[in-house]
Amino acid sequence: MTSQRTRERLIQRLVDQGVADLRVLDVIRNTPRHWFLDEALSHRAYEDSALPIGYGQTLSQPYIVARMTEILLGACGKKPERVLEVGTGSGYQTAVLAQLVEQVYSVERIKPLQDKARTRLRELGLHNVVFSHADGGLGWPQKGPFDAILSAAAPRVIPEDLKQQLAPGGVMVIPAGGEQQSLYLVVRDGDSDTFITQELEPVRFVPLLSGTTR
Ligand code: SAH
Repeated sequence: MTSQRTRERLIQRLVDQGVADLRVLDVIRNTPRHWFLDEALSHRAYEDSALPIGYGQTLSQPYIVARMTEILLGACGKKPERVLEVGTGSGYQTAVLAQLVEQVYSVERIKPLQDKARTRLRELGLHNVVFSHADGGLGWPQKGPFDAILSAAAPRVIPEDLKQQLAPGGVMVIPAGGEQQSLYLVVRDGDSDTFITQELEPVRFVPLLSGTTR
């Protein structure tokens, strides 16, 4: 079992790095990150680093999960109702979001990762998440428009399909780029086709790939 002290150290580290939203810190404090890792790695769950989850993918670093969630909530103003997540992975970011928004729609292209994440969220008693095995770069048009979109994988260029699935005033937090990536905040200006894009900080994410795997 991980001691409360280890988790508190992580929270302190996030605060030191500038994470200030108390709702986000509280949810991270209470979400068992070790739950989202294989047994052999679970003792490293409260380090502030990305960790492998198989299939060449990684569980995001706690700092980036906290930061992206904080940006999303801050830019949304009110509590977001419908949120699209691209790249479920282990389901850790999904679990954090599920505790802060009304309903999460999470898309993953690697089937076994999706299956594991679904089980973990159910076991944690988080029932406001629906999953889709699909190419998340195309969004989830049947379920949109979304108040917020968060992507855990980096396309070279922010996909037009995702922008078009933002509700009026909707916000998207997404990494993009090639060798050099940045985190972006995209806000839809009312119900117009105008999008305000802000480049936030350098980041490193796994690439957003097209298609799906069994
Ligand atoms: N937040 C997740 C991050 C997982 S890494 C976690 O902490 O576990 C990013 C995930 O995006 C990987 O699982 C990868 O398979 C997925 N991914 C990459 N391209 C995708 C696409 N086009 N559609 C859906 N998921 C995608």
